[in-house]
Amino acid sequence: MKAWWRRRSVRFRLALWYAAATALVLIAFAWFVYEVIEHRLAAEIDRQLRIDFDLIEPQLGVDPQGHVQWAVRGSHGDEGFARMSAWFEVWSENKELLLRHWPVPEANIKDILPPPQTSTLRFATIELERGLFVRVMERPGRVQGRSVVIRVFRDETEMRRTLREIVEVSALGFPLAGALAAIGGYVIATRSLAPLNAMARQARRITSESLSKRLPNPNPNDELGRLATVFNETLTRLEASFAELQRFTADASHELRSPLTALRAVGEVALRDGHDPTMLRETIGSMLEEAERLTDLVDALLTLARMDATTTGAAREEVNIPTLLEEIRDQFEVLAAEKSQTLAVSSDHNVAVQTDRTLLRLALVNLVHNAIQHSPSNSKISLAAVRRPRDVEISVSDSGQGIAPEYHEKIFEPFFRVDKARSRSGGGVGLGLAIAKRAIERNGGRILVESESNRGSVFRIELPSASQLPSMLSTI
Ligand code: ADP
Repeated sequence: MKAWWRRRSVRFRLALWYAAATALVLIAFAWFVYEVIEHRLAAEIDRQLRIDFDLIEPQLGVDPQGHVQWAVRGSHGDEGFARMSAWFEVWSENKELLLRHWPVPEANIKDILPPPQTSTLRFATIELERGLFVRVMERPGRVQGRSVVIRVFRDETEMRRTLREIVEVSALGFPLAGALAAIGGYVIATRSLAPLNAMARQARRITSESLSKRLPNPNPNDELGRLATVFNETLTRLEASFAELQRFTADASHELRSPLTALRAVGEVALRDGHDPTMLRETIGSMLEEAERLTDLVDALLTLARMDATTTGAAREEVNIPTLLEEIRDQFEVLAAEKSQTLAVSSDHNVAVQTDRTLLRLALVNLVHNAIQHSPSNSKISLAAVRRPRDVEISVSDSGQGIAPEYHEKIFEPFFRVDKARSRSGGGVGLGLAIAKRAIERNGGRILVESESNRGSVFRIELPSASQLPSMLSTI
């Protein structure tokens, strides 16, 4: 049943729910109406019985033989009618029938009614014969000083017919109302869900080639409209990611192609006119240089891909920052010395963070490498670490060519170089900062740049201090 129900369309299910709810409300309402009417009619019959009693009792008398007699007196004078319709019995206290006045021939009366049991006021409904129900009131009375029990009757047939008609009309009306509700529900559901079908049709048409398409959204304020808005926003983000991916692939192919083309060209020239050993040596040298560039590029791409692929948090260990900075200074000392640059390390005492050492080192190596590359000879490059209340800040500052503010965001994108030609000759492919940014973000930190053209640059890494880590971890 559950599986059957789930296989039905939403429209169908809504229509059924609608019909069921309507039927339930109608049944409850009809039941309420039935109860009220029944109560009112029963109360009316009982009121009539009391009136009958009050009319009959004073008109009873005893004839000289001691028999109880009914003498119709009154202002209306409609004796015949009163005689016809009055329906009562008079019983003595010792359960003896004193007078019976029924509107049916005496012969038809079967003695089915036992004598009154109590001498108190009592109402009851009895079935005289099949389908003939009467309401009975028994009440003690007096006939010329003699105590009797008077039993008054009223036919309930009319009341029962009215009630039966209510039931019949309801029984006929409910299926009709239910069917109408179901049809109405189906039509309403069809109309309300129509935008959903349009969305589904459009969504089916959206492929990786047509990510710019959007779902139709006739009314952004209703629930379906909000769904379409959220979906369209997701599509916008997907489109952006897709475009970024395509750009990345195109850039990567381009970057890979250049050294390969150079390798091929140099190789072909050497093959054609390579008779001179000195020239061949030079050719092999430049081929090796290109091969090295290729290796660096592929390494950087692999690093990026690995960082993007791992979704788990970085492995954390306690890293002593001054020690790490000194290690990096030692690593770059020779390179800096080639340009007569000095590398200075300054740090607060015992600054430590819980972080992935390899990733942090990778980021710092890229920053220091850039600083050396983009600073003039005889300049100073500073590495500093400061402990702040909530985090630790590590900065790499140089007094080099600087970066114009409009490039501050772009330099962290893969393959972006402020000055492509110049950077290529220096060997960079534009992946260093992209790698550094991802490495720091995977550690729960962030990387910022402060720089202006020809005023040097400061790259700041902010890493949460140990006590901030648990909350940071959950946001990675
Ligand atoms: P690259 O491999 O070219 O160094 P990066 O991603 O490391 O690539 O840097 C991107 C660009 O940002 C560089 O091409 C350079 O133009 C600029 N840049 C990075 N660091 C510095 C710096 N310290 N001073 C000036 N420009 C910089």
